[in-house]
This record gives sequence, structure tokens and C-alpha cells, in this order.
Amino acid sequence: MRLDDQEFMRLMAGKLAEIRGTDMLPEELVGLVERVLPVQIRARDEASVELPDESAYASVEAMFAGSPLILREHFPHDPVQAVRLFHSLLGLLVQTGGTAAQAAETLRAAINAGELDPQQVLRAWPAGDESLFAAWRQRLPESPRALDFLATSALWPSLNAAALALAPRLPENLPHDRGHCPLCGSLPYITFLRQKEGLRFGACSFCGHEFRLRRLACPYCDESDSAKLKLFRVAEYPGVTVGVCETCTMYVKTLDFREADKIVFSALDDMATVALDVLAQTQGYKRPTLSAWGF
Ligand SMILES: [Zn+2]
Ligand SMILES: [Zn+2]
Repeated sequence: MRLDDQEFMRLMAGKLAEIRGTDMLPEELVGLVERVLPVQIRARDEASVELPDESAYASVEAMFAGSPLILREHFPHDPVQAVRLFHSLLGLLVQTGGTAAQAAETLRAAINAGELDPQQVLRAWPAGDESLFAAWRQRLPESPRALDFLATSALWPSLNAAALALAPRLPENLPHDRGHCPLCGSLPYITFLRQKEGLRFGACSFCGHEFRLRRLACPYCDESDSAKLKLFRVAEYPGVTVGVCETCTMYVKTLDFREADKIVFSALDDMATVALDVLAQTQGYKRPTLSAWGF
């Protein structure tokens, strides 16, 4: 479902108020998302994505055996738009003030000095090449995720536009017994239950595609032995379950949208429930993915 602009802004405002109400995240960050998200949604509509020809896709047999339709390093996107967005998001980051703004100034100076190449950053991220990001996390200890934020947020609009265009190519009745995205092979950053039957879906951390998952299994290591999987809830967050896996020591949040008259807004719902991440992490469980904006 595509929301019209007004409906989108109304929903976003509601979710942002909910996030601010939790008092868990700095205003700097919430305000940044408030400015970035409408830019991204507009950019998704404007993205120019060329889909590759037939030979680039996995065969139906391979997909039934668990291969994604197309690997993330080859996933179609709009590199021209991504570079343009990289620079405008950098501008928004400068305006946030505080440590994020200082980090943005440092990145901007590095770009001007020819020491940092946005195009290289935007190629490294889909390729899963961590070294560049790791180096900048070290150089910007006060805002370690600044470059992750820029790469993730600049690429998301066209990656998601491609995901929307590619989803109809997935074979019907594809088994959902694996935890990764059937389009690109990446892991979900959050999962949710939908419809009366409580079908479980994951939101892909790379392309944003929403895909079916097994209800009772770890999406990260496919463990399905109930003795190894534990669920916990917190009274302040009634519709949310945290599933922890003793096999891989990862956790994932599951939002229950079966009854609630709510529209899933995975990226913002993830932010609104950050208290549960803190809780899971203090118990020693890890989250293998970043937020939708790379922090
Ligand atoms: Zn994906
Ligand atoms: Zn696991």
C-alpha cells in the first residue's frame, strides 16, 4: 500500500511523538530522522532504477533452495541519486548541531581534501566491505555511525524502489523457512505479526522488502528448537516481544500488529522500542543489524 503524502506525514508525526514520549533517544537523532524520512520517501518515488536482465536472477530451483533473487552487491539501485542524496544528507547532518554536526564537518572536509570518496562509500556498503566504515567509526568516536548513516540513508530510496519492482518476480509459494530476505539475502532488523492468523514478517535491513518468516524460529540462525528460544515482554511495551536465541545469542523484536489498528512503520517502530534493545543487550544478547538509518 502506498500512502498519500498527507497520510504519510500524519502517520510519521504520530510515530515521532511516540518516540519522543519514550525519552530514550536524543532529540538530535529524532529530529534528524524527522527531516530525513520525507526526503527518502520522495527520493524513492523519483529513483531511476534499471532492472537487470533475466540472466542476473537466481533460478526458481535455487530460490526454493534458499538463494536470494539477486545478491546484494548486484542489487539494482540509482547510483547517481545516491551520490546526490549523500551530499544533501550530509548537509542535514551538519544542521543537527552537537557531535553529529562535528562528525559531518569532519567528513565534509575529508571529501573536499579528496581523502574520502562518496562514490566509493556507496559501493562499499552494498558489497559488504566493512573496512572503510570501521576506520571512520574509529575516527569519529563521538558519532561513530555518521558514515553508516549517510551510506544507508542515501542508498535506501533506490534500493527500496528496486525491491518494490523486483518483489513480483519472486515465485509464488516460496518456502519461508529461512530468516533472510528472498530478494537480496540480508537479515531482517525487526519482525512483526500481521493478519488474524498472526503471520510473521521480517523487514529487510538492506532493501526494505517485507517477507514471510517462520513464526517460531530464530531468523538469524534458523534455530527452531523451542528449548533454545526464549521470549520476553515488558509491561510498558504491550505489543512487543523480544525473542532471544541461545544458539546464536542474537535477539529480535517482534511487533504484534494483529489486533491494533496500526500501520506498520518498521523503521520508526524500531526506534520507538529501543528500550527493549537496551534490555536485551544488557542481558548479553546481540543485534546483528543496524537501524534503518545505519545507527
Ligand atoms: Zn532485502
Ligand atoms: Zn539464533
